[in-house]
Amino acid sequence: MPAAIFAPRLNSRGVELGDDHARSALIAAIERAAAPAPAAAIVDGADAGGPARPVVSPIDGATVVGTVREGDAALVERAVAVAAGGFRAWSATPVETRAAVLEKAADLLEADRAAFLAVLAAEAGKTLPDAVAEVREAVDFCRYYAAEARRCFGADVVLPGPTGEENRLVQRGRGVFACISPWNFPLAIFLGQVAAALAAGNAVVAKPAEQTPLVAAAAVRLLHEAGVPLSALQLVTGDGAVGAALTGHPAIAGVAFTGSTETAWAINRGLAAKRGPIVPLIAETGGLNAMVVDATALGEQVCDDVVTSAFRSAGQRCSALRLLFVQEDVADHMLALIAGAAAELVVGDPRDPATDVGPVIDREAKARIDAHVAAWAARGAVRFAGRLPTGALAAGTYVAPTVIELPSAADLAEEVFGPVLHVVRWKASQLERTIDAIGASGYGLTLGVHSRIDATVKRIVERLPVGNVYVNRNVIGAVVGSQPFGGSGLSGTGPKAGGPHYLARFALEQVVSVNT
Ligand code: GLU
Repeated sequence: MPAAIFAPRLNSRGVELGDDHARSALIAAIERAAAPAPAAAIVDGADAGGPARPVVSPIDGATVVGTVREGDAALVERAVAVAAGGFRAWSATPVETRAAVLEKAADLLEADRAAFLAVLAAEAGKTLPDAVAEVREAVDFCRYYAAEARRCFGADVVLPGPTGEENRLVQRGRGVFACISPWNFPLAIFLGQVAAALAAGNAVVAKPAEQTPLVAAAAVRLLHEAGVPLSALQLVTGDGAVGAALTGHPAIAGVAFTGSTETAWAINRGLAAKRGPIVPLIAETGGLNAMVVDATALGEQVCDDVVTSAFRSAGQRCSALRLLFVQEDVADHMLALIAGAAAELVVGDPRDPATDVGPVIDREAKARIDAHVAAWAARGAVRFAGRLPTGALAAGTYVAPTVIELPSAADLAEEVFGPVLHVVRWKASQLERTIDAIGASGYGLTLGVHSRIDATVKRIVERLPVGNVYVNRNVIGAVVGSQPFGGSGLSGTGPKAGGPHYLARFALEQVVSVNT
């Protein structure tokens, strides 16, 4: 019922970072925050795993933010066994209690915001605005899925019984869910997946990205403190092999995954090869996200939205703009505006409020992006390259915002996960061809259109099966509950995170028909 879907609900409040007083108070609180507790696998509430290894900050490539003890296949085995035991009690816990626990977690997260902001900056290289937005999103996911659990699972659905039978649709947890999350939203996506699975009555074994275990371990401790039973939520740290052991485990009842398309394929292959229960995979993967700009668009607005979409978060969002299609007539003007605005961006220490673009996540990521840029630089295609920080930050993993002009969209077959914008020109007579080129990538995550002609917008939007379409604005920062997020094709399976159909996919449906 639409009325229930749009039930009044407020997202959490942010921090007005433009207000000197509020910003200084927040920075002081972040500086006071204690160093993060060591991370480890957490099985039945106890730290576990191999020897501690340092987690090094991308900010300078040297500072040890904390330590992590990695899990392995044996630990996955133990974590799944404990979670299977925990599932029985948690799935029998009333929906209202499960929802209240998630709301408590949201409150604790808001109260402990400064500590999480500190880890997000140090471990993941998040700028202050990005870190603040991420904590907000994590809080919103907890509260939204709590509200959704009440709406979706609060009462059995009574179905028609034309022959006099009583038919009821019951929804409950499926069992042990594997939640595998990425480093680019190490708190929001990590908590979003886990909160959704728990809200639906599942037990969870979560595996965070190996680059960001500290924030994940802190989030698990917070959920336990909020009242999630120790047996209902396990954390296994480690690399892809640990993830494969988890998703390949015969007792897993479902997988929620956010990360690369490549890894989603591997998980899919593993699930398909298993001789066991056939389980759902909820995958949210990458995008070759395009924005189409025609000659009627407002130049300054386009420029602002392009720079935000391509370079904010150092381009490390699945939603980020990768391919800008600009109508030939305005392309030179638009490129000049974008280069001018990009030149103003400060690349540097994400803890400095003056910074716009922080580091990319690690050396491998930087090497990959740098190699891509170098290959196009050798062909004379780089139209703009920003400046890198020096001094103490020289060994940090920074990539300067870069604009590359491509001969055609087909020249970019894969997502480049960093602050690199690719531009392709199109002629007024070639709109259909441009739409075809976008569709041909096979990805379908975000799409931007900048045009003042409604018919053009309609034509583009209707032709492309893209999950999130943004018209005359930027293409990042989907809001929980208002802009449910997720794509199709190479970009994932759906359902959309932060949307009204998400929880159902985590639940088991049972119809009970009683001959009265
Ligand atoms: N939901 C985020 C956004 O709209 C992107 C999430 C991701 O990168 O996976 O920007």
